[in-house]
Amino acid sequence: MTSDTDLSPDTSDELPEPPMEGPGLFGDPAPAAPAVAAPAPPVALSAGSPVSGPDQPSQPYRVLARKYRPQDFNDLIGQEALVRTLRNAFAQNRVAHAFMLTGVRGVGKTTTARIIARALNCIGPDGKGGPTADPCGVCPECRAILADRHPDVMELDAASNNSVDNVREIREAVRFRPSQGRFKVYILDEVHMLSGAAFNALLKTLEEPPPQVKFLFATTEIRKVPATILSRCQRFDLKRVPQETLRRHFAGIAEKEGAAIEPEALAMIARAADGSVRDGLSLLDQAIAMPTEGEGVSADQVRDMLGLADRALVMDLMEAAMRGDLPATLAAMDRAHERGADPGVVLADMAELTHTLTRFRAVPALRNDPSVPEADRVRGGALAETLTIPVLGRAWQVLLRGINEVADSPDRRAAAEMVLIRLAHLAEMPTPGEIVRRLSGAQGGAQPVAGSQGSGAQGSASPARGAAGPASGTLVGAVGTASIGGPAGGGLRAVAGGAPVAAEVAPAMPPETEAAPAPVPATFREVVALASGRKPMLHAHLVHSVHLVRFDARPEGGRIELRTRPDAPRDLAGQLTALLQETTGARWTVSLSNAPGEPTIAEQSREAKAARLEVAGTHPLVLAVMQAFPGAQIREVRDAALDAYGLPPPDLSMALANDGEPVEEDETGYLPGDDAGPGFAPDDAEPAGMDRP
Ligand SMILES: [Zn+2]
Repeated sequence: MTSDTDLSPDTSDELPEPPMEGPGLFGDPAPAAPAVAAPAPPVALSAGSPVSGPDQPSQPYRVLARKYRPQDFNDLIGQEALVRTLRNAFAQNRVAHAFMLTGVRGVGKTTTARIIARALNCIGPDGKGGPTADPCGVCPECRAILADRHPDVMELDAASNNSVDNVREIREAVRFRPSQGRFKVYILDEVHMLSGAAFNALLKTLEEPPPQVKFLFATTEIRKVPATILSRCQRFDLKRVPQETLRRHFAGIAEKEGAAIEPEALAMIARAADGSVRDGLSLLDQAIAMPTEGEGVSADQVRDMLGLADRALVMDLMEAAMRGDLPATLAAMDRAHERGADPGVVLADMAELTHTLTRFRAVPALRNDPSVPEADRVRGGALAETLTIPVLGRAWQVLLRGINEVADSPDRRAAAEMVLIRLAHLAEMPTPGEIVRRLSGAQGGAQPVAGSQGSGAQGSASPARGAAGPASGTLVGAVGTASIGGPAGGGLRAVAGGAPVAAEVAPAMPPETEAAPAPVPATFREVVALASGRKPMLHAHLVHSVHLVRFDARPEGGRIELRTRPDAPRDLAGQLTALLQETTGARWTVSLSNAPGEPTIAEQSREAKAARLEVAGTHPLVLAVMQAFPGAQIREVRDAALDAYGLPPPDLSMALANDGEPVEEDETGYLPGDDAGPGFAPDDAEPAGMDRP
């Protein structure tokens, strides 16, 4: 089939012989499954292919997309499912009266529609055949449709025939029998462009289709087609043609055209075509036109044409960045820039490579997949060996974000370099899972931190990478278990998991919560807590301006001796007495003293925090994390067991054992470094700060 718009009208009678110039797109019309039957034909690297088009000298140049437009279902590449369904439909004589062909541009929607039109009307070479999935291409019907002059096959562009009047014309026309062929076939391209009224008018016809009429709709935007229309059509989703299929297809065409193209150049065109045969063929057209006579098309030329970065260069960049080698990374970026590669395209290529590497990592067998370019398989396979899926996932995130940053940046090159620097920096860092595993190995005492790298490394240069491990959540759990089994860390039991701490603290908690409703405060801190929320000013002074000298708690009331700071209100003792009377119903005696007493609660809290930080800073796990993340700081040590004042609870078991007895004065022992005190523990299972992206 030649054309609807360009150069055919002058040769109205001889033209319908296109099968002569396109004997199947793979050189031989393999009957059933062209894609499988025809392995990649070698690309003609030398000019003067034996199959060069015989018609070239006599005919004006026709673009490849037209010249090699598929003539039958065997030629249709990359749409095996559609072809199978249509073949079955024709074989069983159950051809729908309306088809909806959808897919991205250039995948062969109208081409398929035209093949169906011929399949419906073909009468075979002897003039006696019926509808067939394999139109003969030689009968008058086939020839007329191929030449675009069949009176019963109407091809309309819905974009320019979108009114209700246009559809009414069709409705009028379908009432008449076909003038020549078996069926009247209406091919409506871009059918989603029809107006609402036009769709409604069309719907009436689709509801009661005359038996001798077939509608073939094509659209790139299926969602704009009303459901009422869709429900009356048999729908076919044409797929993007796979890269490898395109590459083989283009290689075959290049060979037939006698054009020598480097395999890598063909692969680039296939990649750039993004699933569209037509787009790819127009790129191939341009590529073939580039070299001077007698020379082949080189990958460099095609790369320049497409504005692509060199694949090897992208691989260099990726390797350098994943090694954390900043100078090499930036040098490779400079080379890409010199070659005129767009910074955004470079990052997009790197993201694509990251995807490929991740696939290699996830499914190692893909490294033997012939559809993956040789360079990717060899170099990419080796690179993938050294990376883990978490590292690749992180690289993917950085690159995706980076592509947007580059797009938004006034200086695209600078933005791309910043992204690469970030990538190289991140690549050096171990993943949280690796740190925890490595450190938990060290904590067990069997392996020093450095030693655990040896077990994980797979000939990798960077300590950041080890073998792919299980998810970090599992590892955290494992650390928790290990620390229960052997608390090698001494005072610090709960290193990475909150669970062991919770288990140990839990028994202590119920008494405390049971004690809370009891009206008699057992410690001075509980007295202070009574003021919280009730007397904010008093509470603040009790925390900051009061040194406890003596505290006796008894069920019938208690005695408190305090030394107040100068900034405390004079009637503080009176306020506190009133509060205690009010809240406990008991008589308390609050007196002022000149004895130095304890530090204020605020002082205790500060001191305890400093001590916790100090203790935490000496813990091997924390030390190792600090080493792994230079510049990291311990900002806070969270401990679920601490009270609102940041202090560990007093030893309540003793207080309760002495039920009713005066609590010893030093009972409020606040020293956090005390071995009996709970260790520090984050209140969630993740080590703080280690899960940051
Ligand atoms: Zn025919």
